[in-house]
Amino acid sequence: MRPSTAPAPSELASPSPAAITRRAALRQGVAFGLTVVGGAALAACGKEKAKTLDCTDTVGLSPAQTATRQTNEYVDRTPDPAKACSGCQLYKAPAAEGQCGGCTVVAGPIHPQGYCKLYTPRVPT
Ligand code: SF4
Repeated sequence: MRPSTAPAPSELASPSPAAITRRAALRQGVAFGLTVVGGAALAACGKEKAKTLDCTDTVGLSPAQTATRQTNEYVDRTPDPAKACSGCQLYKAPAAEGQCGGCTVVAGPIHPQGYCKLYTPRVPT
């Protein structure tokens, strides 16, 4: 009597070339599918991160610093895509991509897609 975990003699036989081709195709199809789904998930994750960047936290700012945001009507999302903080002469880029930047006039975290009424187009250097 052979153990129940041992393969049957018919299972040890070499698969036909057609079966190998079918199996290889299935494996490649599954690998391709996982790559596409995984890539889409990562891309969505990155987009989600960019969408959710929030530069409205004013904790730690003095009342005078907070007033610079209010007086200049800072908003985290520009109403005019052609006029965003990232294209402003007064914008200070963040240390790393995906983080809030700063501003030489408006205090606190500044969203690259933010805007205030002091917007000054960046002068090409
Ligand atoms: S001045 Fe206004 S528009 Fe320009 S970077 Fe500062 S907050 Fe943004």
